[in-house]
Amino acid sequence: MSFSRPPIPFYLTCAATIVVVWALRNIDMARFDRQDFSGADNATVRKWENRYIVGGVSVTLTCGIACGYAIAVSQDSFSELACISVTLASMISLVGRNYGSERAVLLLSSAACLPIVVGLLTLQDPYMLVLAVLILPFILTTWTMANNVRAFLYENVLAAREIATIAGQFDAALNNMTHGLFMLDGHNRIVVANERACELLRLGDKADLKDRLLSEVLEHAADRMSLGADNKDKIARQLDLLIQGKRSRALISTSQDLSLEFSANRRDNGEIVLIFEDVTARVQAEKQILQMVRFDTLTGLPSRDYFAELAHNAMLANGGHQRDVGFLLVDVAEFKHVNDTRGHIVGDKLLQAIAERLKSLAGNDAIAARLMGDEFVVFFPNKANASDLEDRIRAVHAGMRGIYVAGGFTFNMTMSAGFVIVESGDFRFEELQIKADLALSETKAKNKGGCTAFEGEMDARYLDRQKLKSDLRDALAANSLSLSYQPMFTPDGSRIECCEALARWTHPERGPVPPNVFIQLAEEMGVVTDITRYVLRQACTDCMRWPADVSVSVNLSVLDLRGDEIASIVTEALRETGLDPARLHLEVTESCLMDEPTKVQGILRDLHDRGITIAIDDFGTGYSSLSYLDALPAGIIKIDRSFVRNIREDARRFKLLRGTANLARALGLKTVVEGVETADQLQLINEFNCADLIQGYVFAAPMPASAIDALCKQGARKRATKSSSQRIA
Ligand code: C2E
Ligand code: MG
Ligand code: MG
Repeated sequence: MSFSRPPIPFYLTCAATIVVVWALRNIDMARFDRQDFSGADNATVRKWENRYIVGGVSVTLTCGIACGYAIAVSQDSFSELACISVTLASMISLVGRNYGSERAVLLLSSAACLPIVVGLLTLQDPYMLVLAVLILPFILTTWTMANNVRAFLYENVLAAREIATIAGQFDAALNNMTHGLFMLDGHNRIVVANERACELLRLGDKADLKDRLLSEVLEHAADRMSLGADNKDKIARQLDLLIQGKRSRALISTSQDLSLEFSANRRDNGEIVLIFEDVTARVQAEKQILQMVRFDTLTGLPSRDYFAELAHNAMLANGGHQRDVGFLLVDVAEFKHVNDTRGHIVGDKLLQAIAERLKSLAGNDAIAARLMGDEFVVFFPNKANASDLEDRIRAVHAGMRGIYVAGGFTFNMTMSAGFVIVESGDFRFEELQIKADLALSETKAKNKGGCTAFEGEMDARYLDRQKLKSDLRDALAANSLSLSYQPMFTPDGSRIECCEALARWTHPERGPVPPNVFIQLAEEMGVVTDITRYVLRQACTDCMRWPADVSVSVNLSVLDLRGDEIASIVTEALRETGLDPARLHLEVTESCLMDEPTKVQGILRDLHDRGITIAIDDFGTGYSSLSYLDALPAGIIKIDRSFVRNIREDARRFKLLRGTANLARALGLKTVVEGVETADQLQLINEFNCADLIQGYVFAAPMPASAIDALCKQGARKRATKSSSQRIA
C-alpha cells in the first residue's frame, strides 16, 4: 500500500452521490411519513421496503466501491483508511437501523463489503486474499446479528401485544363484575378500582381513584350518600376490622335501600383485594323472613320463640337487679264457639281485636305475644321495680274482658287467665310458662273467666296428676278396670228396669280413684274411648245374664262423640255379646252438643235408629238449654241429683224438679231422677209423680255385677210371692 495522493474527482463523485442519495432518501422518507399505512397491504409494504433498500444499497454500494477503488486502484493509505473507516462506521449502525428487513441487512452489508473483497482480490496478494475471505464471515455475522435482534424484538412486540390484550380483557372482566373491587397497596391506597365499585359507592370516574387513600374515598362516598357522622364512623370501624383480617366479612347498610357486603383478601405482597356486592335484595328478603318467623301473621304480635327471645333480652336489660317479674297466660273462653257459629273469618277478626287490646293494655313496659290459637301471653319485666305487679297483671286481665266488635258482630268475651310472679334471679322461661299454665288450668277447672295466681301446691298437683296418668295408662294396658252397676228402680222400688254401668279403678297404692277423676284424665290423655270400648263390651256381656226386661245404661264421653269410632264400637259390642239393642241405653250430657252439633246429632240419630235408647245424663247441670231436648233423639232424661238435694226445705228447687219432669213428660221423654238418697225425698218425688225411674242410694248404691244378678232374682222372687199372696187373698 503506497501513500500517494488519491484521485480527488472519483472520491468527490462518490461523496456527491452519497449526498444526492441522502437527499433523495430524505424526500422519500418524508413521503413515507405522510403515507397512511392503516389499510396497507403486503405489496405496498414490500414496495416501500424496496425503495428503502435501493436508497440504502446506493449509499453502502458507493461506500463499498470507494473502498474497493482505494484498495485496488488508488492504493493510497489515506484513501483506504478514510474509505474503509467511513464504510465500517456505517456498518456499525446497519444492524440497529435495518434489523427489521432481512433483505436490507443482507443487501446493504453485501453492497458495502463485496467491492472491498473484489478490491482485495485484485491485489493478488496472499495476505489480502486472507483478508478478503475474512470479510465474508463479517457479512454473515452482521446478517445473523440482525436476524437475532429482529427475532428478539419480534418476540417482545408479540409479548407486549399479548400483555395489552390480557390487560384489556382483565379490565373488561373487572368492569363487568357484579362485585365492586378495590385493590389496595400496603398503605391502603387504591391501586385498581372497577366501575362497579364507583357505581355502588356513587363515586365518579375510576381513574380519579388511583393512588387515593381508601379512607378518603369512603369519606367522599359517604358524603355523596348523605350519611350521618355515626354511620360513617361505624362503617369505617367495620372496614378497618375487615382489612386487618379480624373479620372475614362486613355487612354495611348505608340506608334502607342499600346494603353492601364486603370481604377482604390480603395477598403475599401486602396488597389487599377488597370486594363488595350489593346484597340489598338478600338482606330485605332475610328481614322479611325474620319478620314472618318472629311475628304472628294474623295479629302482628311476636310469635312464641321471638317472645322468649324478647323476654330474655328484657331480663338482660334489667341489668341483674333482683326484682319481681310476671308471666300472664290468657285463654279466650268459648272462642271455638265463635268460630263455629260466626265462621273463621270473624274468629280471626276477633283475635285481631283481642290482640290489639292486649297490646295497648300491655303498653311499652310489658311484652305481649300470641302463643297459639286463642292463647295469649304477657311478660312483665317490671323495669320500674313496681311492688304492685300483681295488681297490674290483674288489671290487664280485667281490661281484656268485655265487649269486642269484630266482623260486624258484637261479642262479650271472658278470658281465663293464670299468672306467676317470680324474682328475676329465678327466671327460667320454660318454667314460668309451665307454672302460668298450671294456674290457667286451675282457673279453667274452678273459676272460668277468672285469673289465678300460681301457687306451689299446683306444681305438686301437676306432678301427681302426671303420675296418675301414667298409672292409668298401665291399668288400661293391664285391663285392670272393673264395673259397678247402679240399678234404676220403678218409683215404688218393686222392679229394676235398667242398671247404669259405672267404671271403677282401684289404684294399687291410692285405692279406688273416683271415675270423674280418671275419666277426665283419660279424656286429657286421649284414651277415653278405650275405656268406653271396655265398658260397653262388659256391660253388654253382664246384661245378657239379667232378666230380659232389665236394660243396661253406658256413659259416653263427649270425646267419644267427637271421634269417628263410637258407632262401630257399639255395633261390635252388640254383635259380640248378642244383646238386643233395645236393652242398651247410652248416656250423653248436654255438653256433647257444644262442639260439632251436627256431627253429634248424626251419630246419636244413627244409634237411636238402631233401637238404642239415648239418655240425657245430669240434665240441668250443663249449658241447659231446652232446645237440646229437641235436638237430641233422646228417650230418657236423667235429672241431676242437684235438683233433689234439700227438696223438702227448698221449695223452689222442688218446683224446678217438678217443672223439668213435667216438661220431659210433655215431650214424651221418660224421666229418671238421680241421687235420691232418703225415703223422705222419695216420698215427695212419688207424691208429685216426678219420676218414671229412681236411681239413688235410697234403693241401691253401685254394686258389682254379681250383686245385680242376685238383686234381680230376689226382686223376681218378691214379685212372685207378692202376686201369689194377692191371689190367695
Ligand atoms: P253419672 O253418670 O251421673 O253417674 C252417677 C253417679 O252418681 C255415680 O257416681 C253414682 O255413684 C252417683 N250416685 C248414685 N246415686 C247417688 C246418691 O244417691 N247420692 C250421691 N251423692 N251419688 C249418687 P260415680 O260412680 O262416682 O260416677 C261419677 C261419674 O263418673 C258418672 O256420673 C259419670 O259421669 C262418670 N262415669 C262413671 N263411669 C263412667 C264410664 O264408664 N264412662 C264415662 N264416660 N263416664 C263414667
Ligand atoms: Mg250416667
Ligand atoms: Mg248422672
